[in-house]
Amino acid sequence: MAAEPEVSSDTALVLFSGGQDSTVCLAWALQRFARVETIGFDYGQRHAVEMTVRPLVREKIKGLRGVWADRLGDDHVVALDALAKISETALTRDMAIEIAAGGLPNTFVPGRNLVFLAFAGAVAYRRGAGHLVAGMCETDYSGYPDCRDETIKAMARALNLGMARDFAVHTPLMRVDKAGTFAMAEQIGGPALLDLVIEDTHTCYLGERGRRHDWGYGCGDCPACRLRADGFLRFRKTG
Ligand code: ZN
Repeated sequence: MAAEPEVSSDTALVLFSGGQDSTVCLAWALQRFARVETIGFDYGQRHAVEMTVRPLVREKIKGLRGVWADRLGDDHVVALDALAKISETALTRDMAIEIAAGGLPNTFVPGRNLVFLAFAGAVAYRRGAGHLVAGMCETDYSGYPDCRDETIKAMARALNLGMARDFAVHTPLMRVDKAGTFAMAEQIGGPALLDLVIEDTHTCYLGERGRRHDWGYGCGDCPACRLRADGFLRFRKTG
């Protein structure tokens, strides 16, 4: 394992969905900040199973290191039903996942990450957290424009202007592909964190947890499962 990074006395708020990426981001933050809180959004996603794995993943990650248990603070769950009401997508409706006109998959909820970051900023403001940590990634991001580095940087600037704060928005996975995310889990928390990511985090858009593959649970066929499966295969080949 690589040397531990220096620990800041600041508080970080992690956008934590219970998925592979945000779990690795949570571990990344636990390595670096004296206090780490989490925020999750319930927006009527079809893969609402995410919301049920969140507390479990939080408990298990605390069990990996005593110092992580000390640093992990409150969890905030924000209901955003309005997001489902205003968007007709395969993430929030019972419809087939496919590529829509314009080349984006119909799982795209327009501006979802902008909404999440605005709410996270408001909670961070109230909690005195100076750092936001989010798992957006532009390497294999299915083309979602709200995952782009430029989008996140613009949003960070808008938050700091609009809230008169100096938040740092960290996206540790921005240039990391799915194989790299598995490697990061192993590097940060050893085989125990890698196991937790495989066994307990949820990625599948359809909310399927019946079948256990070597990369974890999921339908194996939706775009999220395919990315995860392909990433794991490449991780195993190179790791
Ligand atoms: Zn799936």
